[in-house]
Amino acid sequence: MSIPSTRPYLPNRQILDKYINRIYDSGWLTNNGPLVNELTQRLEELFESDHILLVANGTLALQIAYQTLINSVDDQTSPIEAITTPFTFIATSNALKWEGITPIFTDINPTDWCLSANSIAEKINKNTQFIVPVHVFGNACPIEEINEIAEKYALKTIYDASHAFGIKYKGRNIVQYGDASIISFHATKLFHTVEGAMIRFKHKSDLAKAKEIINFGFNDNKEPCRLGINAKMNEFEAAVGLSILNDISDIIKERNNITAVYQDEFKNTPSVIKLNITNNSAYMPILLDSEATLLSTLKALKSHNIEAKRYFHPSLDTVEHLNPSNRCPISQDISTRILCLPIYNGLTTKEIKHICEIINHTINTHSIDNLDNNH
Ligand SMILES: *Cc1c(COP(=O)(O)O)cnc(C)c1O
Repeated sequence: MSIPSTRPYLPNRQILDKYINRIYDSGWLTNNGPLVNELTQRLEELFESDHILLVANGTLALQIAYQTLINSVDDQTSPIEAITTPFTFIATSNALKWEGITPIFTDINPTDWCLSANSIAEKINKNTQFIVPVHVFGNACPIEEINEIAEKYALKTIYDASHAFGIKYKGRNIVQYGDASIISFHATKLFHTVEGAMIRFKHKSDLAKAKEIINFGFNDNKEPCRLGINAKMNEFEAAVGLSILNDISDIIKERNNITAVYQDEFKNTPSVIKLNITNNSAYMPILLDSEATLLSTLKALKSHNIEAKRYFHPSLDTVEHLNPSNRCPISQDISTRILCLPIYNGLTTKEIKHICEIINHTINTHSIDNLDNNH
């Protein structure tokens, strides 16, 4: 028995074929086609939110959001800075760097692993333009506190909501917050279009600008009016997205059941901390008591052909090419002890019990070993 950490959801063939037949009938493959438009509309309905733009992937979604919202500065010698979290997938910060923006890391909350609002203000200076928080594992950031700071200092907020598909905050879908929110639709995410992503903008004018940016900088009259890139979603990707969207409530229901089985299996293992599991079950993170326990757990799982991911590891304030200037001890601590367990549609209860048996056994023998070592 071999268990991967994730397995992309494959849509029902008959439903997918219906969409693909439409592509064959129209002969339209890319460039803002009918299926991309239909998926945009369906997502706007689902998220009760306008101003959604579909793009080629989550990394480009971040870059385009930064490009769209950036204020050009007269003084080219001082760098533009963004305050962001070190506890995220590296793309959040790579995309900043790629746009010539310096990520300034501030620490996370130990409770929800999201950017702590308390540490932001002290890092703001005249070069700061952005706050880039991440709703880690679907846990909502302290949005109201972050908003207050952003308003006070006239900063733009871009949320990386890649883990937060379908999550609500104070009764509204989470993508409705911030100047922009992005969600990656990569094959391994809860909802996917193979490769792809969305950006939700607060302002219609930003959406219009971003539409030009993703299409080589052409305006509606096909004139090159600004620096652009190619970041369009194509019709086949939209077909996969539309087919999967059809099943999304069942997908989430099944994953929530998986989460419940895991939680039950760990209920007598207090050293496994299951933090704030959110209601989309995009990930199954557990926090262990030490990196040593984590390494023995990983080793035990691997010997049974079970894949678990150190996610996120390392903390980005330790990654050289990002030129980190601050250290973030909470993020560093969490990142050494966190493990994401297998979760995907089709994972069976029997498999989950097998995984948990190995983990519980490893943790129990490990703590006995530690006791022995101490005596
Ligand atoms: C997956 C992910 C990304 C990158 O998205 P891609 O579509 O793979 O480029 C960015 N940020 C977070 C938090 C992610 O999980």
